[in-house]
Amino acid sequence: MAERVLVVGGGVIGIACAVFLQRAGCRVTLLERDTVGGGASRGNCGLLYGSDLVPLCHPGAVAHGLRLLLAGGSPLVVRPSLDPARLAWFVRFARHCRPARLAPAMRARARLLSSAVALYTEAFARGELFAAEPPAGVLLVFEGEEGLRAYRETNRLLAPWGCAAEEVPAARLAEIEPALRPGAAGGFWHRADRHLRPERLMDSWKQAALRAGVELREGATAFGFRREGDRIAAVLADAGEFAADQVVLAAGAWTAPLARKAGIRLPIQPGKGYSRTHPLSGRPPAVPCYFYERRVVVTPFADGVRLGGTMEFAGFDLALDPDRLEALAHAAAAGLLEPPAAAPCECWAGLRPMSPDDLPLIGRAPGGSNLWVASGHGMLGLTAAPATGRLLAELVTGRRPHIDPRPFSPRRFR
Ligand SMILES: Cc1cc2nc3c(=O)[nH]c(=O)nc-3n(C[C@H](O)[C@H](O)[C@H](O)COP(=O)(O)OP(=O)(O)OC[C@H]3O[C@@H](n4cnc5c(N)ncnc54)[C@H](O)[C@@H]3O)c2cc1C
Repeated sequence: MAERVLVVGGGVIGIACAVFLQRAGCRVTLLERDTVGGGASRGNCGLLYGSDLVPLCHPGAVAHGLRLLLAGGSPLVVRPSLDPARLAWFVRFARHCRPARLAPAMRARARLLSSAVALYTEAFARGELFAAEPPAGVLLVFEGEEGLRAYRETNRLLAPWGCAAEEVPAARLAEIEPALRPGAAGGFWHRADRHLRPERLMDSWKQAALRAGVELREGATAFGFRREGDRIAAVLADAGEFAADQVVLAAGAWTAPLARKAGIRLPIQPGKGYSRTHPLSGRPPAVPCYFYERRVVVTPFADGVRLGGTMEFAGFDLALDPDRLEALAHAAAAGLLEPPAAAPCECWAGLRPMSPDDLPLIGRAPGGSNLWVASGHGMLGLTAAPATGRLLAELVTGRRPHIDPRPFSPRRFR
């Protein structure tokens, strides 16, 4: 008899877990409180950014973050709070900025992301998942020499993993992307990366889940658990009680409050980001441009242009701050010859599930014998999803994991 697995959360991570679990022979039901792909996985920048190996918590990140916070209008915002979980998260983050932590974190990210990119490439080639946009890489554009110099150092760290970018002198930037405004100090082109429209990708993940035989229950909010000894016997949801042999928490930024209902603490904080999507007009870029000092990405799609960025630690607040949305438009105006002229067709905010070491949590939950976690993917959930789904399915079904699961263990924070 196939194992009954219940996945909570229908973002890119939950749906990828569901697909891989079902293909591994489990009978999967996925509970999504809203619609599949309606959370952080929807309005994001759409980069499949496999070369982004340096974690947010790297040597020098705390000092840099403090400088950004003190300089008004920065892309980093921390709303003051005495919430002990948030304070503890920042303390952990600072500890993970130690130099000794960098190489192991980059190794773990390299393995997960290269597996994810390979899985996406196969799925696109077989037509199982959908990516309309032609691969164009990701072009990092720098306004000043200081940023350029710092990224040169980052690029040196990426080289051993085959992820280094091609450095582009200022005079050559317009050859690669004629839509750029002259005056930038230079850039780095990560040619192997690509982009796509996340909404389309999520539609195709959903279709893949249905084809595989996953039961999708949209509009079903999980709010608790029924325990039998050390096992979770059922998930309690407003749509009823769902008995399961194994339970996977993949509720994005909401994974931590949900896990608390099972008596488990997970260090995941919501990191809010914004995007504004405009209809095509003027001269949009052909290559996704990452205006690095402003931390704003401009992603071109076949039918629109999206500006996205900002990292705001403000709890579970999805309100749209007009200043943050304006900052995205300013960055595009500073970097592009013809920034989007028409009003946005959508302004959006999403909560990234942030872990303090910038590695996702994939594996058995602390203290839970049949409770699993797939969350904490921070800025790279869209990219890392298929490798996460595959790894989690291997762990749940007792198969040999295709990458070392230890760096991602949800138990590593005890
Ligand atoms: C502005 C911005 C830009 C980004 N750009 C990129 C990018 O270019 N490339 C990239 O790789 N990543 C990017 N990211 C990060 C990426 O979007 C996230 O890492 C990813 O979407 C996380 O996926 P998830 O499935 O964990 O969470 P989500 O997509 O948020 O999914 C969680 C789901 O769980 C559901 N849920 C929550 N609680 C419950 C409950 N109790 N019961 C049932 N369902 C529940 C929610 O409704 C939601 O649908 C970006 C993020 C932002 C905000």
